[in-house]
Amino acid sequence: MPAELLLAKIAPKTLAPVDSIGAKWLRLLDRLDLGAAVKGKRTAIKMHLGGGVGFGTVHPFLVRKLVEKVKAAGAKQVFVTDGPGDVAVAVERGYTAEVLGCPVISATGADDRYFYKRPIAPPFKTLKSVDLAGEIVDAEALIDLAHIKGHGACGFGGASKNLSMGCVTTPTRRNLHALEGGMEWTKEKCSRCRICMENCPNHAIRFSNKGEFSVFYHNCKFCQHCVLICPKKAIKMIGGAYKDFQHGMALTTSQVLKCFKPENVVFINVLTNITIYCDCWGMSGQSLVPDIGFLAGRDIVAIETASLDLIRTKDLIPGTLPPGMKLGKKGHLFERLHSKDPYVVVDDLAKLGHGAKDYTLTEVE
Ligand code: SF4
Ligand code: SF4
Repeated sequence: MPAELLLAKIAPKTLAPVDSIGAKWLRLLDRLDLGAAVKGKRTAIKMHLGGGVGFGTVHPFLVRKLVEKVKAAGAKQVFVTDGPGDVAVAVERGYTAEVLGCPVISATGADDRYFYKRPIAPPFKTLKSVDLAGEIVDAEALIDLAHIKGHGACGFGGASKNLSMGCVTTPTRRNLHALEGGMEWTKEKCSRCRICMENCPNHAIRFSNKGEFSVFYHNCKFCQHCVLICPKKAIKMIGGAYKDFQHGMALTTSQVLKCFKPENVVFINVLTNITIYCDCWGMSGQSLVPDIGFLAGRDIVAIETASLDLIRTKDLIPGTLPPGMKLGKKGHLFERLHSKDPYVVVDDLAKLGHGAKDYTLTEVE
């Protein structure tokens, strides 16, 4: 049977506030039957709080209203959570306890050391276990609140990425990225401009006195920022095993979801300001396609599939691609941008028993 998803479209039918996306957000939350998931439960709202000079993450108004609805639905406790680095700078994007109406806490503790180790059995390549965020494992209900956007390493970021990369420690995140392969530097192409070093979010790049590039892999999280920002194309990932990365993401998402009874998990995907790169870049940019709205439901496979289906190449806004970037010839818009099929992780999650790709959309007027 197809999964039922709710869709609140951003386009208003009239100019009345009651037709605005803010009002539809409230009606969408009312239609979700949050009480069935959160009543009497310690409830985690997992979202990406952003970093750097980015502000394309889910608007604090939407989060505050969600918190109010979760409380009204009878949750025992509610908190907003993300990794320690993002929580530390969350105030810059307006995510404070005062604004949101609930605590904003690090999922893995202030020092990234609060976790539960879970084996991946059988191991997948180098991925033998994952360190799941302690605050997520301790929660009884989960709201996966994800901003949808493209992603250089896996094609797109949505509900699955929010859990797999956001509900683990930094070493596990690094292990997942490492499934993609290593990095190779071409000396002859490099101008020693050091743009890569200055823009590495983890300060993993070094240049020796002789101008030799090296990566301190202990710090590197294989985010590919250096690869993409290098003006001379002197750095490249070797291995190119993006499907292994996606498979690792699906296995990790599965481990997170197994911490909860399925009826205690809600998925909400926010399809506004859909950018080419992930919020982890710490920058905001142009929307690739017109804003779509909000999707919500109980099936992660269905909501990720529907999110991707709603983002269409024919809706690409002219002039929104970075200079020099051309669309590839086939596949989803994100595949044509990043050369990675974004449906791989969705298919993996379906095979792991977390839902089905069939869905129906019910519009929230
Ligand atoms: S950004 Fe590229 S060209 Fe500049 S120093 Fe780094 S590798 Fe060399
Ligand atoms: S992949 Fe990311 S973390 Fe690793 S060296 Fe490049 S920019 Fe730094």
